[in-house]
Amino acid sequence: MKKTLHLIFWLIVIGIVLLLFSGLAVGEKDWQRQREDLVGEVEAMVASTRDYLQQEALDKRVLDALRKVPRHEFVPANRRAYAYSNQPVTIGYGQTISQPYIVAIMTEMIKPEPGHKVLEVGTGSGYQAAILAELGVDMYSIEIIEPLAEQAANNLKQTGYTAVHTRSGDGYYGWESEAPFDAIIVTAVASHIPPPLIKQLKPGGRMIIPVGSAFMNQYLILVIKGADGKVTTRQILPVSFVPLTGTH
Ligand code: SAM
Repeated sequence: MKKTLHLIFWLIVIGIVLLLFSGLAVGEKDWQRQREDLVGEVEAMVASTRDYLQQEALDKRVLDALRKVPRHEFVPANRRAYAYSNQPVTIGYGQTISQPYIVAIMTEMIKPEPGHKVLEVGTGSGYQAAILAELGVDMYSIEIIEPLAEQAANNLKQTGYTAVHTRSGDGYYGWESEAPFDAIIVTAVASHIPPPLIKQLKPGGRMIIPVGSAFMNQYLILVIKGADGKVTTRQILPVSFVPLTGTH
């Protein structure tokens, strides 16, 4: 009798463990399916904005990074249902994780290559930094809101992007001790292109930055520093970003 009870007990335990694991597996499969659908939406949006972007499609490596990075791990638990909708998601402190289409085109515009040293201004949730880290770049990211910087560092650690360097501070001034950078990505709108960032860009480097007024008339601007140090800019498309804050 005692032996039978023992057996039943262990069968129940094994049953519960199996149930838990199959639940997790279904969850991950579902996230993957949602990411695949999202990639389809981003591709369609890129095609419909081809005249602005001056290209029909994104680099497959960028799409593969979108397929791989678990965006749901970068949004607050109560917003996970929206993690794979092609829209910005609130992350607290009045800030947002950018729309996936915007993340994708900004990533594309700086032409990241493995081994490039890249600076991001505006870590937010850490998602954009994770996408770039997935592409093999040596990633540096600055966030002005300290609790967000901590949260992002934690998100990056939890998802395995442990090599991303993060710190809290005013990104208007860049990260001088680590400069120069092959590319710079600014994820908050500035009234002008910060001169310290231009200075910290390598000759031949690219910067993508939204420029305009805080809540209207903003454009994504691609800045290219020529091999001779000469800077040229190209207006890409109208966008809507939270403001670049700080004392500058
Ligand atoms: N890239 C982020 C992501 O993947 O989640 C989203 C960035 S959110 C649109 C813009 C971020 O820029 C906010 O977290 C905001 O606090 C930050 N920010 C604003 N001004 C800043 C500054 N001067 N220096 C650094 N970060 C700044």
